[in-house]
Amino acid sequence: MSNQPLVEVENLNVDFPLGRSLLGKPPMLRAVNDVSLKIMPQTFFGLVGESGSGKTTLGRAMLRAAPITSGTISFNHGNTKYDVGAMSKMELKEYRKKAQLIFQDPYAALNPRMTVRDIIAEPLEVMELVQTREEADQKVREIASKCRLNLEHLRRFPHAFSGGQRQRISIARTLVCSPNFVVADESVAALDVSIQADILNLLKSLQNNLGLTFLFISHDLSVVAHICDTVAVMYLGTIVESAPTRSLFTQPKHPYTKALLSAIPTLNPEDRGKAQKLEGEIPSPVNPPSGCRFHTRCPVAEDRCRKEVPQWRESSPGHSVACHLVG
Ligand code: SF4
Repeated sequence: MSNQPLVEVENLNVDFPLGRSLLGKPPMLRAVNDVSLKIMPQTFFGLVGESGSGKTTLGRAMLRAAPITSGTISFNHGNTKYDVGAMSKMELKEYRKKAQLIFQDPYAALNPRMTVRDIIAEPLEVMELVQTREEADQKVREIASKCRLNLEHLRRFPHAFSGGQRQRISIARTLVCSPNFVVADESVAALDVSIQADILNLLKSLQNNLGLTFLFISHDLSVVAHICDTVAVMYLGTIVESAPTRSLFTQPKHPYTKALLSAIPTLNPEDRGKAQKLEGEIPSPVNPPSGCRFHTRCPVAEDRCRKEVPQWRESSPGHSVACHLVG
């Protein structure tokens, strides 16, 4: 495996205008705030946090599907380094073949009027990756087999399938153009627990067999623990902690991470009632708290937390955190 990250994000900010203003610039909402991270090739990088923490916007920015206000996103492919925020139309067309998205909702993601074959083949045709229908059929059959789809089903329409089968069709559609980097945004959230395990195992085996790199976005920490190599925790647009999965789950350092982990349901009766409840709602990103953005909900906040932004520090090898109380 290469030592060079496949995706490198540096000091990324993503802003959205709030409505229109007749007098100058409208107020802006900062959805991603000064985020830096590295995703190594052929790994699962997990991104967790509550709804509204900016996970989806960060993932979309990496695919150039959300505006990049400042900072850089680099994508290293062979000897080519793409600056994702400054690509020409031609480069963007090439990039789209290498970086793809698996949608959250397998029911909404598939066109009900198209057969499974046509749904999977569509990206090949749109991106002009095949010359003939036979060539497209061959690629569709190959990826359908890898995604454990019955080839007989290629002639059917999406309504004939269960949620798990639809998600496998959706995954086949994403992977048919042989991408290197895949953003999986809450890809199992809409499925039953038993089906979730099936889809997670499929993603893991596809990653091994095809050498894929995943950004795996989820609010469910137990799912992330099952599949990811590295995890970053987001709160109100910023990353507050990042570590190899085992280190994050056994030695969480940031109070927000500790609260999220303590809320995972447990079968041990002795652990029940020990969850650290987070008080209040996540604040509005339009007017984020000063200093540490988590101070309004942090059970151990001090005076300086309200004034000083905590620095991002490596507290042990590969384990970094932004908190005044972690040395
Ligand atoms: Fe809590 Fe302060 Fe650490 Fe922020 S910096 S997480 S408010 S202790």
